[in-house]
Amino acid sequence: MTTDLDCLFCKINAGEIPAKMVLQTDKITAFLDINPQAPTHVLVIHKVHTASLSETEDPQVLLEVMQGVQAVAKKLSLTDYRVAINNGASAGQTVFHLHAHVLAGRKLEWPPG
Ligand code: 5GP
Ligand code: ZN
Repeated sequence: MTTDLDCLFCKINAGEIPAKMVLQTDKITAFLDINPQAPTHVLVIHKVHTASLSETEDPQVLLEVMQGVQAVAKKLSLTDYRVAINNGASAGQTVFHLHAHVLAGRKLEWPPG
């Protein structure tokens, strides 16, 4: 498995930093965001470290992250939710390990800020 020793989300994958787990498979980890922006705010990450969406070369990783999002929605019985991926610092990315935000539980405005 590709990991980055200095990466916060690789450490969560490895169980070295605790997180409130929602779902774990051999491919992905889903856990509650520490600073939730909605009543439900889950982060879905792959076990393989890739820094961002634009730097992910293996389409299988993207597929499995999205399958992880579906599995989270099913597990939490979410019908209406938003999936967001911030790509790059100017777009709001602060942790450089690809992750999908799953937001639900309140009316979500459009466009996002
Ligand atoms: P980004 O801004 O990169 O799209 O999203 C990173 C997210 O990770 C943020 O929403 C932030 O609240 C969350 N986060 C940062 N550090 C931690 C942590 O140690 N634990 C958890 N569960 N979430 C974190
Ligand atoms: Zn990582």
